[in-house]
Amino acid sequence: MNTRNKQLGFSPLAKRPELTALGVAALLLGAGCANQIAQAQNAGQTKTAKVAAAKVAFPQKNNDSPTPKVTKTPAQWKAKMDAQTFNVTREEGTEPPYRNRYWDLHETGTFQCAACGLNLFTSETKFESGTGWPSFYAPIAKNRTADKTDSSLGVTRTEVECARCESHLGHVFDDGPKPTGLRYCMNSAALVFVSGKK
Ligand SMILES: [Zn+2]
Repeated sequence: MNTRNKQLGFSPLAKRPELTALGVAALLLGAGCANQIAQAQNAGQTKTAKVAAAKVAFPQKNNDSPTPKVTKTPAQWKAKMDAQTFNVTREEGTEPPYRNRYWDLHETGTFQCAACGLNLFTSETKFESGTGWPSFYAPIAKNRTADKTDSSLGVTRTEVECARCESHLGHVFDDGPKPTGLRYCMNSAALVFVSGKK
């Protein structure tokens, strides 16, 4: 178990395979909030609601400090990045699975937003999802990413944006591994990998 996981308190939960994502949420939130999640699920609410509930439960540093925004015009963004990065980050494009630079990367380091440089994910939460896209079970901190409902393609999904510059990063699903149960399915083109421990 690495240092970050110890800091975030993952160790005891990760070693208890009987815990589901909801169980983890219940432990972390306390009984009152867990009941709310259960009620939401019983009421047949959407996957989006379940993801949002699970995210609230995730213990992170900097939870309550809003991330200052960076805003630029589309022309300004276009001038500072290549065409594929612009397509993914500013036009919500999706790169092909298995043909992107980070899906099979196993080095230690930090993944930054390709548009604004904000540290978003680390290799410590990266896992093999089998999807062909780089996948993480959590961002570095809750205030690094923002969720948005995405109803394109005829299905409701939860889009993930950079909290600072609102670049499109990918989507988050609730079929990820412990301890969060979340799968942040990211586009490599929206990320820049910086090797080494921070
Ligand atoms: Zn950004």
